[in-house]
Amino acid sequence: MLKLPLCPYCEARFLYRQVQESRHQKTIICPHCNNKIKIYRKFEYVFGLFMVLALIGLNWLFLTVPTMNLWFLLAVTAIGVVVLYFLLPYAVRFRKTRERETHS
Ligand SMILES: [Zn+2]
Repeated sequence: MLKLPLCPYCEARFLYRQVQESRHQKTIICPHCNNKIKIYRKFEYVFGLFMVLALIGLNWLFLTVPTMNLWFLLAVTAIGVVVLYFLLPYAVRFRKTRERETHS
């Protein structure tokens, strides 16, 4: 389910760093085939929401432990947020932009 996106035209692999840098743009140009790629971030939002809910659930679960302290909860939450941040590029997908915008 989680994997780095491929170019929809030539199926070239993108490096983690390239995805991380380009995911805030609307479109990018594939360095292999020079085609315009649309960045599709819907899965990223779904995945982010899922992770946040999982973290809240985890914290809630830990709160039922009598010896639990706040620092442990904060540490768990911080680790969760960091993991989420580094996993987000794996939820990005690339789509073809609308083709034949010019004459046929
Ligand atoms: Zn390509």
